[in-house]
Amino acid sequence: MSRGEALEGKKLVRSPSGLRMVPEHRAARSPFELDEPPWVPDKECPRCMQCETKFDFITRKHHCRRCGKCFCDKCCSKKVPLPRMCFVDPVRQCAECALISQKETEFYDKQLKVLMNGAIFSVALGTSEKSETMACRLSNNQRYLFLDGDSHYEIEIAQISTVQILTEGFTPGEKDIHTYTSLLESQHITEGGNTRATGMLLKYKVPGSEELVQMKFTAGEDVNSNKKLSAAWLAAMHKAAKLLYESRDQ
Ligand SMILES: [Zn+2]
Ligand SMILES: [Zn+2]
Repeated sequence: MSRGEALEGKKLVRSPSGLRMVPEHRAARSPFELDEPPWVPDKECPRCMQCETKFDFITRKHHCRRCGKCFCDKCCSKKVPLPRMCFVDPVRQCAECALISQKETEFYDKQLKVLMNGAIFSVALGTSEKSETMACRLSNNQRYLFLDGDSHYEIEIAQISTVQILTEGFTPGEKDIHTYTSLLESQHITEGGNTRATGMLLKYKVPGSEELVQMKFTAGEDVNSNKKLSAAWLAAMHKAAKLLYESRDQ
């Protein structure tokens, strides 16, 4: 078992929002995790922050677990899973937050599994022309990318500074044009759409050094490689990077 996959204990904690299953040590938490928001104090919200109904003994106040704002029951009635805050059960959320959480469910149900199952890439370090065929996967605790070939690398997700997805566009008349899609542009990469992910540029910091290392991943061109699987892995990585930036920005 490698360093990144050493067993890490979890504990059950109770917050005003509900039961959460969190790592025993904060350092072991998932890079995709979000902190619980502070709740808007009761005295600061006499009315529902959505429909403006006045709160009283009959119209009770509820806090959205994702944004911490105050709502009436009608505007905050949905209970939706919120794995990014480690809630064990679905929790009460406002309409806006429920929508975001529902979209994230797809990441947790499907794309996270795709990342953990891994895919094969040809990987080049730095600006080197030499590449090595490697199996790439996300560790079970979501904190490392493991690369296995003749060499072995463990890249800590927290040390990744940029993720760029290399795509192949199929614009009519312009076949096979390679473009770098910056993550900050929100171009949507789909598995079956007209842009297909064919590679990825990662930049990350090696612990103990301030220098950035670049790694280039290219989906295999040979018959043995599963291009569709690699494209799905890259699309999942694209989504993961977005979540990662959100978690860092909070
Ligand atoms: Zn309301
Ligand atoms: Zn909300």
